[in-house]
Amino acid sequence: MDLHDYAAATESTNIVTIQSRYGLYIDGEFCEPASKKYFDTINPATEDVLSQIADANENDVDRAVKAASRAFPAWASLPGSERAKYLYRIARILQERAREFAVLETMNNGKPIRETRDFDIPISVAHFFYHAGWADKLEYAGYGSHPQPLGVVGQIIPWNFPMMMLAWKIAPALACGNTVVLKPAETTPLSALLFADVLEQAGLPPGVVNIITGAGSTGSALVEHPDVAKIAFTGSTNVGKSIMQSLAGTAKRLTLELGGKGANIIFDDAPIDQAIEGIVNGIYFNQGHVCCAGSRLLVQENIVDEVLIRLQTRMSTLRIGNPLDKNTDIGAINSRAQLTRIQELVNAGVSEGAEIWKCTSELPIKGFWFAPSYFTNVTDAHRIVREEIFGPVLTIQTFRTPKEAVEKANNTPYGLSAGIWSEKTSKIHFMATHLKAGVVWANTFNKFDPASPFGGYRESGFGREGGRTGLGAYLKEVAS
Ligand code: NAP
Ligand code: MG
Repeated sequence: MDLHDYAAATESTNIVTIQSRYGLYIDGEFCEPASKKYFDTINPATEDVLSQIADANENDVDRAVKAASRAFPAWASLPGSERAKYLYRIARILQERAREFAVLETMNNGKPIRETRDFDIPISVAHFFYHAGWADKLEYAGYGSHPQPLGVVGQIIPWNFPMMMLAWKIAPALACGNTVVLKPAETTPLSALLFADVLEQAGLPPGVVNIITGAGSTGSALVEHPDVAKIAFTGSTNVGKSIMQSLAGTAKRLTLELGGKGANIIFDDAPIDQAIEGIVNGIYFNQGHVCCAGSRLLVQENIVDEVLIRLQTRMSTLRIGNPLDKNTDIGAINSRAQLTRIQELVNAGVSEGAEIWKCTSELPIKGFWFAPSYFTNVTDAHRIVREEIFGPVLTIQTFRTPKEAVEKANNTPYGLSAGIWSEKTSKIHFMATHLKAGVVWANTFNKFDPASPFGGYRESGFGREGGRTGLGAYLKEVAS
């Protein structure tokens, strides 16, 4: 350790109790899976096995959907003000147990405790508080004078923000009077299973929320179940497409929040120090496992040298390693499979002639790690510019005019996010009007608020989560 280096400031894991094995949470209790099968869940930073998780099969999915169907009539007919009380209770309990959730999420996901503590868990809490406020005001939300819930909703979420994705899905569904069967991602089930404990504490009626763990086949059984009124899916574009195909011709509703390849655009009149922070936050936050990451940097040509020098200087200060250390900026890659995918795309970039620059910090020996990196000498045709890497890897291109920046930014099959850095409001408005992205940030990046709808265009999916608009995904318009 250098004289001026940080001393380790490791968060204790004592606050968390992880059971050696978890069943499925159906009808208000944990039960054995009919499949009798379990799989290991690990800490990706150490590869230690944390627990064994039930692998739900079709019969288990059927049990969960039946429990949610039984719970639906009573839950849907509760006055909104009564449903709101449950949501407020859940929000307050989550807030009280925030540290426990932050530590557990970091252990199972690999993301830094600084992020789970300051971002994932507070945003999750905020979603429950926000939607509690809507539960008794749905008739004023713009969905008819007497909007009705859909029924049982199947919700399938990815591993990159396990708790936050759970909150984005469950809070609006419950506020609108639906009941839920949620499937967390195979690699990150633990926070959803701890959430079942919060539901018990809040006294939520049995069957209103059911949590079933498993892999892709469990998700697929949920999609196929005839009694599910709606599927809300967040995940990869490929799985999203297959879900859409299998729901075609059915009456089931669907929202898809899929991948992205967001452009982060720096003009020569940008506040450069802030923009450098914005670039780092845009792509290296959460190890780049962010659907709306600013993974394609577009820099105005006359400032690219300065931006690269400053970016290297800033990146050299990033601290990579133990996610439970409060000083850590970059944690572990979530799984060996994801690490392999990142490496494969990075190799493709190198073999297609792009030049890579990597942070040189030493990486831990055990666990899954990838040093923050960027590529220069790339064109729109490179695979690393077209495909979502979903890791801490940035591509850097230049442009000369706002029009060229728009063309490059929109030259992607996705349309989830974009960032603009400029001190000229007129330029920001021009860009924001022409960028094809569901979310456009100006002089900031990766900012979220429950009141602000989030979602994509094109291969990034359809439907919005959050805000008044997000309620529409869980309501039928009915005029009384
Ligand atoms: P994924 O493989 O599509 O998985 C997402 C979820 O779907 C997981 O729970 C997964 O289970 C399940 N699943 C897999 N195959 C399925 C099938 N055939 N039918 C039904 N469910 C199935 O995606 P991922 O690798 O976990 O997540 C990364 C992707 O999510 C990225 O592309 C990212 O951009 C996207 N994402 C989008 C947003 C957004 O809001 N737009 C937010 C976060 C992430 P297993 O975990 O067991 O495979
Ligand atoms: Mg998967």
